[in-house]
Amino acid sequence: MQQIFLTGATGSIGDSCLDLIRQYNTLFSLKAFTAHSNWQKALSVIRSFSPAYAVITDRESYFRLKQRYSGDKTVLLYGMDEAVKLLCNESFDCVLNAIVGGAGLDITWHTVKNQKRLCLANKESLVIGGELVYSLSSDCDIIPVDSEHSAIFQCLNGESEQNIRKIWLTASGGPFWKSRIDFELVTVEQALDHPRWSMGAKITIDSATMMNKGLEVIEAHHLFGTTYDNIFVAVHPESMIHSMVQFVDNHIIAQIGETDMKGPILYSFTWPDRIENRYSDFDLFELNRYNLHRPDLNRFRCLKLAYQAGKKGTEKCIILNAANEVAVSLFLEGKINFASIAGIVENMLEKDLNLGQLSIENIKTLHKEVYSKTWEYYEKKF
Ligand code: NAD
Ligand code: MG
Repeated sequence: MQQIFLTGATGSIGDSCLDLIRQYNTLFSLKAFTAHSNWQKALSVIRSFSPAYAVITDRESYFRLKQRYSGDKTVLLYGMDEAVKLLCNESFDCVLNAIVGGAGLDITWHTVKNQKRLCLANKESLVIGGELVYSLSSDCDIIPVDSEHSAIFQCLNGESEQNIRKIWLTASGGPFWKSRIDFELVTVEQALDHPRWSMGAKITIDSATMMNKGLEVIEAHHLFGTTYDNIFVAVHPESMIHSMVQFVDNHIIAQIGETDMKGPILYSFTWPDRIENRYSDFDLFELNRYNLHRPDLNRFRCLKLAYQAGKKGTEKCIILNAANEVAVSLFLEGKINFASIAGIVENMLEKDLNLGQLSIENIKTLHKEVYSKTWEYYEKKF
């Protein structure tokens, strides 16, 4: 039985992971989980799975949950520091990091440091911490869960990274890749209406701006050691080809499958093995056309900004990521328009904000600083 630590259990990836644990209950068991503010959902996870530990990272929600939970099977803990302690002191076969945003950095960092298997959905932690994480060892036990990176990981099985000529990251393009809609007029509802995937709000907006693909370019750079000039994005609206690797001999291997995150999560738990998919089948003939298009970097400025930040290094990646997190939440709250997301990120990237020496503390400090500077910028300009 594999013991799983699921961080970000109340989100969309969390749901998929819990579904898998239910379906494969003789193989996987939920030993611990974290949740932030959705204490009601955390309570239902406790009731369904009776894990040994539940960590609530939002203070008020922790106290609310404590009032409502009267059982004794699950130990309730408060705060990210307790989650980190658990990571370090308890045994887990896999840690699935499904927290959204830079808040997932501590989990990524301490899982790798403790040499436990990190099943990584939280791409933002690699965007800001990838250089640091891989400075520990070039051979970290990180199994990507992001579908594109899981695809590349599968294409590379047994291949040397030196044999890679190009990585082709596919992108659905989100709801606006084809429409000529003016980005200033896009509503929150339109941006949240993703054509292929059902996901949390932040990543759905990132898909609409294509910042998601930009973050994934940086993620791929760290995971596979590929230079930015060799990472290409292809818009593939059907989202069936999850990504491709072109080798030095120009042979291309692609991974094709359903648009269901349970696939990559299950693979990250069972790798290097595979187990039978009990919940669905895949019909290759369901689609008779697989389209691929060049992305429009002038319209989707966030993707261009991510390439630029990636090439400049960790400092700019932290600014890109944190400014984007703030801008996306401002958009979701109806405070700025859709076009302003890229504008705010671009503006913050021009500011002189410094990381200093590469360390976990300095990354977290700069991340916070960019958050407050982006708020200041918003309050002045909007
Ligand atoms: P979500 O918004 O549905 O869930 C986010 C989870 O993070 C929740 O459990 C929430 O409690 C927790 N969280 C939020 N803020 C937190 C904080 N400050 N501290 C600690 N925990 C916090 O997000 P999601 O769609 O499940 O995505 C999770 C991660 O997986 C993201 O990094 C996303 O980019 C990545 N990802 C998601 C999908 C998908 O299909 N949803 C696909 C690929 C990658
Ligand atoms: Mg993805």
